[in-house]
This record gives sequence, C-alpha cells and structure tokens, in this order.
Amino acid sequence: MAVYIHNDKEFGNVKITLRAGMKRIIAKVNNGQLCVSFPIIATRTSILRYFDEQRQSLRQFIAQQTPKQNLYYDGKLIHCFGFDVLITTEENPKTEGDVSIIVVPKSFDFSSAAHTKRISDAVRKMVARRKPILINYAWQVAEELNIKPSSFVASNGFRRLGTCNVATKQIRLSYALLFLPEHLVRYIICHELAHLTHPNHSKEFHELCNKLVGSKEKEYSREVNHFEWPVMK
Ligand SMILES: [Zn+2]
Repeated sequence: MAVYIHNDKEFGNVKITLRAGMKRIIAKVNNGQLCVSFPIIATRTSILRYFDEQRQSLRQFIAQQTPKQNLYYDGKLIHCFGFDVLITTEENPKTEGDVSIIVVPKSFDFSSAAHTKRISDAVRKMVARRKPILINYAWQVAEELNIKPSSFVASNGFRRLGTCNVATKQIRLSYALLFLPEHLVRYIICHELAHLTHPNHSKEFHELCNKLVGSKEKEYSREVNHFEWPVMK
C-alpha cells in the first residue's frame, strides 16, 4: 500500500492510496478531505486523468458527503412524488393530505451533523417504503409510450438512479426518484426505457430519449445533476 498527498487545483490536498487487490476506484470524504483509493497498478497519468474526467461527479460527491447546514428544521416539509414527509418535534402534528411524519426528539440539535445524518437516514427509510408509487408510475409511462420492459424493480440504492438490463429487459429504479419532481422521474424512466432499444449512450440513444421527453433531455439531465437532494447520500 502506498499513500501520498496529491494537490488538486480544486479539491486541495487529496489523500491518494494505492492498494493491492483493489479492482475499482473508491472515493471517500474524511473530515472534509477527499480520499481516493486506486488499484496498485494506477499510474500518475491515470490518476490525473481520473481527476479530470470525474471532476464534476467528485464535486457533487463531496457536496453530498458534507452535511448541509440546517438541512432540516422543526416543521420542515419535504415534497416527494405523491406524498410529503414532515420533520417535526410535535407528537401529533396536524397535517393535510398524504404526509409521512418523522417525529424527532425535542433534544435534537438541527445544526448538528450527527443529528442531521440520523434524520436523513430516517427520511430515506420512510421514502423507501413508498416504492410501489414509483413502480406504478413507471408502468404508466411505459404503457403510454408503448414500450414493454419485462419488469420494473425499485432498489434501495442511491448510487444509480436507474439501470436497464438489456438481456432480461428488466429496469431497476432507485427509490430516490421519489424525491424528484414528476418531470424528472419521468425523464429517468424514459432514459431507461430508451436503453431497451439502444443499450449504449450512442447518438441514436440520445435522439430517442430526447424524443420521449419532449426534446428536453439536456435540460432535464442538467436539472437532475443539480438537484438538491433533501437527504445525505
Ligand atoms: Zn443510461
């Protein structure tokens, strides 16, 4: 194992670890410092290329790993797809419509990173239970477009919002889509449905996907990339 510090123009001092037996690159954030482990065979050139190519996703990753100040407060309502989640210290809050309630102890400090993480985990769990809403909607979109996957499965992961298994025609959607507004949920579903025709992100793929989302693929893709998730990933 070798460890050294790489000074990146944007991320500052990045801890680089080269590990034997590692097959893929793993990035972490420890106390605000970016730490990246590479397979032992990684060269300096390949490491620099990684930072260049992954800059945008690394930037997002760091932002997600750093607890946002006051992500939650007493009475915060998180709008989800088809329902809301209320964070409150009240035992029996009055609500209207379909609202899932997370009651946090009065002793909770909304500005503390540890408490924010605990609320975030509770929100994630609560929203993950609503996966059937997502699956029903996905079938609705597929039927409307007359595209036939073999099945839709909702996953608990957050890493990938959707995947399409071209061989089995199964589409997996992350429960996290439930945090997005409808047009973006629909966009992700359309993206995966387009993979049933074009497995790779080819020019033809993007043409089809763009057509399915009313010529707004680029706009929606940007929106998803800049979306402020109401939870820590
Ligand atoms: Zn894709």
